[in-house]
Amino acid sequence: MGMFMLESPLRIAVVPGDGIGPEVCSCAVDVLQTVLADVCPLDIQYYEGGADCYRVHGDALPEATLDGCRKADAVLHGAAGLPDVVYPDGTEAGQDFSMKMRAALDLYANIRPVKSYPSVPGVLIATADRPIDYVIVRENTEGLYAARSGGNIVRDRVATDTLVISRDGVERITHMAARLALSRQGAPADGKRRVTIVDKANVLRSYAFFRKVALEVLAGYPEIETECILIDAMTTYMVQQPDRFDVVVTENIFGDILSDLGAGTVGGLGLAASSEVGDRYGYFQGIHGSAPGIQGCGIANPIATILSAGQMLDWLSDKPGWEALAPAGRRIRLATEAAIADRSGLTVDVGGTANTAACVAAVKANLPPSSEGDRADNPVFMDAGRS
Ligand code: ATP
Repeated sequence: MGMFMLESPLRIAVVPGDGIGPEVCSCAVDVLQTVLADVCPLDIQYYEGGADCYRVHGDALPEATLDGCRKADAVLHGAAGLPDVVYPDGTEAGQDFSMKMRAALDLYANIRPVKSYPSVPGVLIATADRPIDYVIVRENTEGLYAARSGGNIVRDRVATDTLVISRDGVERITHMAARLALSRQGAPADGKRRVTIVDKANVLRSYAFFRKVALEVLAGYPEIETECILIDAMTTYMVQQPDRFDVVVTENIFGDILSDLGAGTVGGLGLAASSEVGDRYGYFQGIHGSAPGIQGCGIANPIATILSAGQMLDWLSDKPGWEALAPAGRRIRLATEAAIADRSGLTVDVGGTANTAACVAAVKANLPPSSEGDRADNPVFMDAGRS
């Protein structure tokens, strides 16, 4: 034996979750096993979490799952949530899985690339000549979602939730956005390294504070152009001028909504990956939900989860001792992009004809040789963790 480049096993905690979660997760695990076959032993542990887990155990994120995730080198998640599995207050139990993970593991940066592919029919005019390629950096631990399960209902007549913005929270997410901008090649339209702050600073004090602190941080990065856009105007610009964006930084709920919009502009949720990282832990999943309507039909698009697994290797490769994972992460991204480009990996939701199995086979068939894997334009995780 002794065939591995690295001796220590890479420990990945996998939480398949609900709906199509298990289907897309097993595809990503399959691709990970393939690309890591000669790199390092892979120690995969499966854990329960999400709506079904709440239904069975009364907890969407049991202690054993959290423990396992803390002990692992990284966490891969399928999807969580079933519309009919709700807490007594009416909120979805499954949604709580990611919310609790973000708080427990302090995953403050949710990095969501928005990238167009010429072979995927988007709703916009993006083509090879006017590509869309930017990243939404969503603050992931505070904002309006910080009020989760802490809101008030007063005598069944009034409901309130509180928007929380802290100086520390804005500073760390803005530094993350700036580092990301430095490692990218700039906006496709003009090549400028740009950080766009999105807020509602003209109406709410909390957002005015977000903007003020973010601008203070960005003043320390003179090589990056900075702009501020109000959330309502932003929805228009993301449709009309998406090629002007490079890195977008915003509050939690705004980032949640904008990233679904961004995914819609480039062909849908099935291709949209994400990395949720803090200073210590990393949690990777497609941005889509559990899509229970297509569960078990064999047609779920696994690309978002496969790309997220690639981002996971990119992120891990920043850690001492794991540098050898970088080419494997790049191979996943290059293979996926090739399977999208030649349409062999396009599922029905993005205008193709492949089912889930055919899609994952197409990605594996397009894996470049291990020796290859130069960084293509704007790699997905983009060395954001390097300071
Ligand atoms: P959440 O709030 O948990 O993110 P959601 O309400 O946004 O969930 P999704 O589960 O993401 O809903 O699904 C929205 C739509 O997109 C559904 O019609 C679903 O079929 C489709 N969809 C989402 N992800 C995929 C995928 N990976 N493959 C195919 N279709 C998908």
